[in-house]
Amino acid sequence: MSKVIAVNAGSSSLKFQLFEMNNESVITSGVIERIGLEDSVFTIKYNGEKDVQTLPIPTHKEAVALLLDTLIKKEIVKDLNEIRGVGHRIVQGGSYFKESAVIDDYVVEKIDELKALAPLHNPAHLIGYYAFKEAIPNAGAVAVFDTAFHQTLEPRCYIYPIPYKFYEEHKIRKYGAHGTSHFYVSTRTRDLLGNPEHSKIIVAHLGAGGSLSAVKDGKCINTSMGFTPLAGIMMGTRSGDLDASVVEYLVDTLNIDMHELIHILNKESGLLGVSGISSDFRDVQKAADEGNERAKLALDIFFRRVIAYIGRYFIALGGCDAIAFTAGIGENSAYARKEILSLVSEALGIVIDDDANENGKGERLISKPESKIKVYVVPTNEELVIARDTKRLLNL
Ligand code: ADP
Repeated sequence: MSKVIAVNAGSSSLKFQLFEMNNESVITSGVIERIGLEDSVFTIKYNGEKDVQTLPIPTHKEAVALLLDTLIKKEIVKDLNEIRGVGHRIVQGGSYFKESAVIDDYVVEKIDELKALAPLHNPAHLIGYYAFKEAIPNAGAVAVFDTAFHQTLEPRCYIYPIPYKFYEEHKIRKYGAHGTSHFYVSTRTRDLLGNPEHSKIIVAHLGAGGSLSAVKDGKCINTSMGFTPLAGIMMGTRSGDLDASVVEYLVDTLNIDMHELIHILNKESGLLGVSGISSDFRDVQKAADEGNERAKLALDIFFRRVIAYIGRYFIALGGCDAIAFTAGIGENSAYARKEILSLVSEALGIVIDDDANENGKGERLISKPESKIKVYVVPTNEELVIARDTKRLLNL
């Protein structure tokens, strides 16, 4: 028996999935939210049941203690030492980490140093790391970086055309994000293609946050997020790519400070900003169906921004064997997939299988045999990648 827990610690939340690695099954999963508030919420799923408790959880330390106590109380584990490894999702690994790493002093130092690039995430990941380290000191810990899969980008794709010294002196470059998802989905897509020696795959990770990547022979060659997740396609609340002059103009015109404007671009833009209704794709779609013009415009912009990257990556890859859709919108919205594919079908020779797109479930092909590019839906599974890397690097 070798149990591994995959952990995603945010500033006020902690998501977890406990795996039995012998058969890669999920034993239990859940989330602790609103840490630090009086009404923190602990949700745990086990044996097909969902248990939700509201109680004050002041810090991540108490969150981890509550989680581990619950595992014992519910007899999910008999002894905490059954958990041999803790895999931590780390948003920003900078240029230091090309792959996952066993967490030691060096890794902690670098995650800490990189907090300048991920101020909301990296400090929270370290808090989660320390909380588990204290609670289950015998378990090994592994860091799985969201940026690692994008470390194969070449300088011509990750250097911004601004003075080079900003890269040299301040590490300004494209890092990308969602790498664990892009890795999982592109690998599954290669499997679905029958593991050919050469493959050209475009992954469209369309969730609340969204990014596309171009993957050639298993290596990521480009991705749409940039120095931070603010770049690339339009998202739920993020603008995506934007002329930087807009920033100066609005800061001056509205007389607000830069941080406030960046907050607006991160939290009040995208689907929410244009529609004025919601950041949630389903809400915006519903409003558009009811005739709301701004909601329709928001969706139109969203689709066009996605196809702009599909077009770029088709060219960058020199063609494409498969497009894979994943994450909340990519996995669940037949409508979004259909709209996006319709906009590129003529140029790329894609023939969608409407029945598979609309009525199928889970991982599947949604293009017809005559389609020049195969199109798949591939539900992402970042936790499984985290658990697998943890097992592998700890030799469990
Ligand atoms: P994240 O992990 O980035 O928080 P998700 O991958 O969970 O986000 O994606 C959330 C998005 O997926 C929301 O915009 C939501 O509306 C959308 N979504 C989820 N289910 C559906 C569905 N059945 N149809 C359309 N959109 C959906």
